[in-house]
Amino acid sequence: MALLGALIFFGLTSAHQSLYSRNWTKPLDVVIYPINADRFIATQQYIDTLSSATFTDIETWASREADRWNIPLDKPFAVRLGDTVTALPPALPVDATSADTLIWGLKFRWWAHRHTPKGDASLTTVRMFVLYYDPFSDKPLAHSLGLQKGLLGVVHAYATKRQAAQNNIVISHEMLHTVGASDKYEGWGGPVYPYGFTNPLRTPLFPQRSAEIMVGRIPTSHTSSYMAESLKSVQINRFTAAEINWIDH
Ligand SMILES: [Zn+2]
Repeated sequence: MALLGALIFFGLTSAHQSLYSRNWTKPLDVVIYPINADRFIATQQYIDTLSSATFTDIETWASREADRWNIPLDKPFAVRLGDTVTALPPALPVDATSADTLIWGLKFRWWAHRHTPKGDASLTTVRMFVLYYDPFSDKPLAHSLGLQKGLLGVVHAYATKRQAAQNNIVISHEMLHTVGASDKYEGWGGPVYPYGFTNPLRTPLFPQRSAEIMVGRIPTSHTSSYMAESLKSVQINRFTAAEINWIDH
C-alpha cells in the first residue's frame, strides 16, 4: 500500500481508538500474540506452555492499582492469550532517528493489520505481539515498544518460566504506553525524579520500595537501581495515572 494510503487509513482508525480506550467505563481487552522470534525448537516448546493464566498477573496488578486510584472498575484490563503469529514484525533500526521511528511505526501498524488473526481485529482491543527468544542466545534483546496509535505493542522476551514475571512487567509497561503513559527513566535506565518514583516524598528518599511501571526499576540512590522481580513490587504513580486518564491532570 502506498505510504499516503497508509497515513489516511491509520489516521482515521486511530482517532477512534484513542477515544474508546481512554474513558475506563469498561475493561480494555488486551490480546497477547506469541511469536517464535529465533525459530528455535526450545522457544516453541516454551510458547506451547503459555496460556491466559501466564498473564493473569497483569490483570490482577492493574486491578490492584486501579483500586488504589479509586477507579470504579473491577478490571481495567482483560488480558488473554491469542493465537501464535508466525510472521515477524518489521525491526526498528538500532540507532533509529525519530523519522526512522515514525516510518517504522507506520510499517508496524500495517504489518499488524495484515497479521492479526482473523476475527480478532477490533478498534477497542490492545494487540501485544510478544517475540520470544531462547534465553541461552547471547544476543541482547531489542527494545520493546508500545504505540498509542493503533493500540499496538511489540515486546521482546526470553522464553523461560524464570523470566515470565519480568516479561509481565515489560508487557504491562508497553500496554500502558498504548493508553498514553510516557517513559519516566533517564539514559542510564534509572528513574527521573520525581516522575519515575512511586514515593518521591519518602524520607529518607532511598531506598525506595517499589518501581514505577514506566521505569520498571527500583531506585537505591540517584545513580543506582535494580529491576523489579515481579509486578508485586511495581506501582502506577500519580503522573502515570494522570496520563492514562485515571485521575485528573
Ligand atoms: Zn517505554
